[in-house]
Amino acid sequence: MKQPIQPEIEQNISNNTLHKASSVMGVISNDKPVDTRIYFDNAATTSLAPEVLEAMLPYLSTHFGNPSSIYSYGRETRLAVENARKTVAKILHAKPGEIFFTSCGTESNNTAITASIRDLGCTHIITSPIEHHAVLHTVEYYSMQNAVSLGFVKLKEDGHVDYNDLEAQLQQKSSEGVKCLVTLMHANNEIGTLLSIKKVGELCQKYGAIFHSDCVQTVGHYPIDLSNLHVHFISASGHKFHGPKGTGILYVNENISIKPFIHGGGQERNMRAGTENVYGIVGFAKALEMATAHYEEDSAYIKDMKSYMAQQLKSNIPGIDINGDEIGGLYTVLSVCFPKTEKAEFLLMNLDINNICVSGGSACSSGADIGSHVMKALNKTDKWITIRFSFSKYNTKSEVDRVLTKLKVLL
Ligand code: PLP
Repeated sequence: MKQPIQPEIEQNISNNTLHKASSVMGVISNDKPVDTRIYFDNAATTSLAPEVLEAMLPYLSTHFGNPSSIYSYGRETRLAVENARKTVAKILHAKPGEIFFTSCGTESNNTAITASIRDLGCTHIITSPIEHHAVLHTVEYYSMQNAVSLGFVKLKEDGHVDYNDLEAQLQQKSSEGVKCLVTLMHANNEIGTLLSIKKVGELCQKYGAIFHSDCVQTVGHYPIDLSNLHVHFISASGHKFHGPKGTGILYVNENISIKPFIHGGGQERNMRAGTENVYGIVGFAKALEMATAHYEEDSAYIKDMKSYMAQQLKSNIPGIDINGDEIGGLYTVLSVCFPKTEKAEFLLMNLDINNICVSGGSACSSGADIGSHVMKALNKTDKWITIRFSFSKYNTKSEVDRVLTKLKVLL
């Protein structure tokens, strides 16, 4: 639902002040609100935090040097990139040499999976049917090329990975002398179930498997201590925690050695060619720094809003079912099944007409509603209509109340 840029906002762009640019980008400002829509789709993307934009702006204007240039313009952007790397590494308890900046979570997932097959000798991949397409389509591609065989771990009814089944599959492959890649997401982006990276890491270590975890929904939302985990790769994406779109990282444990996914120049220590997205990298690090500094209060605030909405929904809308874990799951996501009725079939569209932005599953890149592979895998498409509400620190309980009022009318 694209809204035209209003003339006064165009004026703001030309004025090019931080404060006004923030309004254009949909972030909170002290001006009267420019937008009355309710945005409850923060698992798809988040608005850019004003402080992040502020940190990025010099690298969109005066500090434009190519970090590979040896003179002062280059040195100042090189310093910004390396400082960002150090910030990210410190927060994740990794070494700066283990952090590689990429263009997004999708690229990070592709890099990890490709490298595991090509450079680390993995010939079998164990994953789950409810991974993001950035993992599922990649492993399916390699399987169709006959580069690997694929195994899917059993899921419990609520969407959690069955760790006993994972161990049984790892044990079987290890007894056959087959090297495995296990790629399992930390939090499911549609239903918010959480994986124990610790437990899976220990299983992978026991059976000599490579372990990649797609942490796109959790980096910036939980403290992650990589020094304490047996994980070889994790992927993250800046736009999920109020950083810029088109930014990501891949953590590569220092004990493994891989080749680049993108070939060309020697950027990212020969690991990821292409002139660095300097302002994006600066924004990624600033967003992660802010998310970490305010983790306690922000997570408590969002958790409270999710729980309020869940309670209100249960008391006001008959017959609903909450997917994943209402308590203890990813605190930003509330996935709700509504009984499939004629009215419910049009719920997503009617919410949009009423200026309420939510998702029926994950954001679909093609824009086509092909249904959710996650809900299909959990056998929840026949009798239910699923809506994912996902929150950020910029949402409020009064927005929840407005959504509930609308839902009562629309259902
Ligand atoms: N993995 C998960 C779990 C996601 O939720 C997403 C985005 O929705 C991605 C990967 C892809 O990340 P990006 O948009 O940075 O490519």
